[in-house]
Amino acid sequence: ISQLTSPLTVLEKIYREITESLVEMDKMFDIMEEKPEVCDHPDAVDYVSNAGKIELKSVTFGYTKDQPVLKDVSFSVPPGKTFAFVGPSGSGKSTIIRLLFRFYDPDSGQILYDGQDITKVKQKSLRRHLGVVPQDTVLFNDTVSYNIRYGRVDASEEEMIEAAKAADIHKTIIGFTDGYDAKVGERGLKLSGGEKQRVAIARTILKSPSFVFLDEATSSLDTHTERNIHASLQQACRGKTTVVIAHRLSTIIGADEIIVLKEGRIAESGSHNELLAKEGIYFSMWMQQLTSEQLVTSEATLMEST
Ligand code: ATP
Repeated sequence: ISQLTSPLTVLEKIYREITESLVEMDKMFDIMEEKPEVCDHPDAVDYVSNAGKIELKSVTFGYTKDQPVLKDVSFSVPPGKTFAFVGPSGSGKSTIIRLLFRFYDPDSGQILYDGQDITKVKQKSLRRHLGVVPQDTVLFNDTVSYNIRYGRVDASEEEMIEAAKAADIHKTIIGFTDGYDAKVGERGLKLSGGEKQRVAIARTILKSPSFVFLDEATSSLDTHTERNIHASLQQACRGKTTVVIAHRLSTIIGADEIIVLKEGRIAESGSHNELLAKEGIYFSMWMQQLTSEQLVTSEATLMEST
C-alpha cells in the first residue's frame, strides 16, 4: 500500500503546488490591480538591453473607449535618472506604471525602451530588466530565502544575504527561529508592512534590473521606519533608471525630474526647485504638505538632502 500511496502523495503535492502558485500569481496581479491581457506579437523579438532609456511619445490611453485616463503624455527618462510622478488621486500615476509593464497597450502613441517599441519586443525578455517595489507587497507562502531569491533564482546564498543586508532586513531575518528558512506569508510568519516592503527591496536589489518602478506606500509607516526604508529604496535604485509614484513630496526632492499629472495630462514638470519657483500646482501641493501632519518628516528630509 505504501508503494501505491507514495506516487499519489507526490501527485497531490504537485497539484497543491500548482494550485498555490496560480493563486499566488493571481495575487501578484491583484497587487497591480490588473491581469496581464497583452500577448506578444508573433513577430516580436528579444529586447536588447542598452543604456536604459524610457520614452513615452504622445501616449493616450483609457481603460474604456470613451474615457481617456492618460492624454497625450510624453516624457523621456535618460539612463540612470529618477523621474517622480505626483498628482491627485485618479490622475493616472499608477496607469503609467501599468503601461510601462505592458499590462495594457496605449490607444495611441508609443512607449520605447532603449529605442525599442514595447509592443514589438517579447515581454519576458523585457520584464527580466524591470524591477518593481509595489505599495503593498504580498509574500509567497514560502521561506524568506525563496521570497528574496525570486528576484534572481540562481543567486548564491552570499548574494542573497548581501541583498538582505542592503535592504536592512538581514538582522530581522536572523532573529527568526529558522532564519532565512522561516516560512512567511499567510501560512507562516506575519511580517509588518515595512518588513514586507524590505523583502521586496531585497528582491529588487538581488535582481538588479536596469529599470526600477516604485509605488510608494500610502499607508502611514512611522516616520523613523519610513526614512529608513527610503534609504534602502535608494540602494535599490542606485544607477538604475527609476520611475517613482510619490505620495509624499518630501521623498522626491532629489528626483531628477518631477512630473505633475492632472486629469491624465502633464500639468507641470521640472526639478523640485524649478517647480517651487513656478508657484503653480506643485508649489501649492508643497505648501499644503508643509502645513499638514507631514511637516516634521518633510523638514527633516529636506535638511538631510541639503
Ligand atoms: P492614486 O493616487 O489614487 O493611486 P492614480 O493617480 O494612480 O491614483 P490611476 O490608478 O492611474 O490613478 O487611475 C486613473 C483613473 O483610471 C482613475 O479615474 C481610475 O478610476 C481609473 N481606473 C484605474 N484602473 C481602472 C480599471 N481597471 N478600469 C477602469 N478604470 C480604471
